[in-house]
Amino acid sequence: MLVSAKEMLKKAKEGHYAVGQFNINNLEWTKAILLTAQELNSPVILGVSEGAGKYMCGYKTIVGMVNGMIEGLGITVPVALHLDHGSYEGAMKCIEAGFSSVMFDGSHYPIEENIAKTTELVKLTNELGISLEAEVGAIGGEEDGVIGSGECADPDECKMIADLGVTMLAAGIGNIHGKYPANWPGLSFETLEAISDKVGAMPLVLHGGTGIPAEMIKKAIGLGVSKINVNTECQLAFAEATRKYVEAGKDLEGKGFDPRKLLAPGVEAIKATVKEKMELFGSVGMA
Ligand SMILES: [Zn+2]
Repeated sequence: MLVSAKEMLKKAKEGHYAVGQFNINNLEWTKAILLTAQELNSPVILGVSEGAGKYMCGYKTIVGMVNGMIEGLGITVPVALHLDHGSYEGAMKCIEAGFSSVMFDGSHYPIEENIAKTTELVKLTNELGISLEAEVGAIGGEEDGVIGSGECADPDECKMIADLGVTMLAAGIGNIHGKYPANWPGLSFETLEAISDKVGAMPLVLHGGTGIPAEMIKKAIGLGVSKINVNTECQLAFAEATRKYVEAGKDLEGKGFDPRKLLAPGVEAIKATVKEKMELFGSVGMA
């Protein structure tokens, strides 16, 4: 059964570790992430962007697939199904379809409008027992087709949104979606500390987890980050493993063209990436 992310993140914040959000794209992705979480006895959050939602034929298809897989694979660790960077309308659709967690990304609105829309969603998600993530200060890199450079959120605005009663808060601290440029100055721990001081027990979310050095990740967790989003890294691992299989001509040997064989190295690569992240985040054994 799907659960809200509230309890797992509260425990993570108290226990000074982070729960990974791994974005899914299809059945193979979902299976690889769920099996790894179960094997490592770790809580897990499955992230779905609006684009991935469309690709997978709508939110209801995803809810059906994930619920079926939890039952079919005998998954007993806490699993949250979460909308990543949702619009207001997208969040509504996911709530209706049976997601257990949603993000409303109002970071591109003026703060007053972000507050107004977030307030409505706080009320609805609280009634339904669904967790809600809000965002202040756009995360850099490519987010919904807009390229940013990694801005830092205003700690006072973070407190305003946190006080509305959201479950967790994403705040820009110089992090970027996708690959980090060679001249990236690193995370702004000064900003993170200022935000942490303002929001107290509220779990903070670090987006753009791909390519942030391990030491910076650990420091961020120490300063109140309890959820870390990983997306690009699984994509890169899957693509590399699949390329190697094809380049080695294995799809031409025997029944190597069978999709179950062709996609297997990619699935194993996602599993290895998820395992590495769960170990780094400290969520192993915390289910
Ligand atoms: Zn993000």
